[in-house]
Amino acid sequence: MRKKIVAGNWKMNLGFQEAEELIEEFMTLLEKQELKTEIILCPPFPYLEMASDYAQEELFHIGAQNISPFEAGAYTGEVSASMLSSMDITHCIIGHSERRKYFNEDDKMLTLKVNQALTHQITPIFCVGEALPEREGGKHFEVVRRQVRHGLFHLDTNEFAKVVIAYEPVWAIGTGVTASPAQAAEMHAYIRTLITERYGNEIAEATLILYGGSCNAKNAAEIFAQPGVDGGLIGGASLIAEEFLSICKQAQ
Ligand code: PEP
Repeated sequence: MRKKIVAGNWKMNLGFQEAEELIEEFMTLLEKQELKTEIILCPPFPYLEMASDYAQEELFHIGAQNISPFEAGAYTGEVSASMLSSMDITHCIIGHSERRKYFNEDDKMLTLKVNQALTHQITPIFCVGEALPEREGGKHFEVVRRQVRHGLFHLDTNEFAKVVIAYEPVWAIGTGVTASPAQAAEMHAYIRTLITERYGNEIAEATLILYGGSCNAKNAAEIFAQPGVDGGLIGGASLIAEEFLSICKQAQ
């Protein structure tokens, strides 16, 4: 059976002190539990070192929200995969719809980011998902197929086996509207079919596919109970320690 993952994407929120308080509060709550869920917190870059110091207690891992497509050198403002791995950052969100939309990250750039992450032993959490007009126009499978194929299918089997996928319908991110459990299950199954075609059944069955999009303490259990949903990528609700913990518990 696949393990479950819950990752919290803090996006560009919280001051340093608030971020530290959130981690401390979450840790205090988490220490009283014995969760099997793998938990990943993804704070903004400047808080990664602080967060990674807390994570040494092995209750959770720390992920970045972005990564440079380049190895090193004259790329002002970039943060490289080797920098992240030297700080014990284990995961990185790649291809989030906000980066595709506001920073024009295209398939080509995303493949470079995925490659950088894997070269430096960082697990990509690779996001895919259709926009509302694409769903309404019946193009959601086509869009997700393109994103998965163009972003990941250049990888060989060993490399692909290290990737986590997050299905995040863009219309569900930060909107309070979630995909219905049936819509999530349908798309997760479709993604797994694509993986089977490219890498075979064993790899497809082992691949973790998370759901993201307005997931919260009230709806998580139903979504996580769907076949093929291996946990969640959580935005807004990851900024509230108790709510995030409740979501993590529901992924067990
Ligand atoms: C996200 O940013 O990945 C996300 C799922 O956000 P939210 O949970 O706020 O919809």
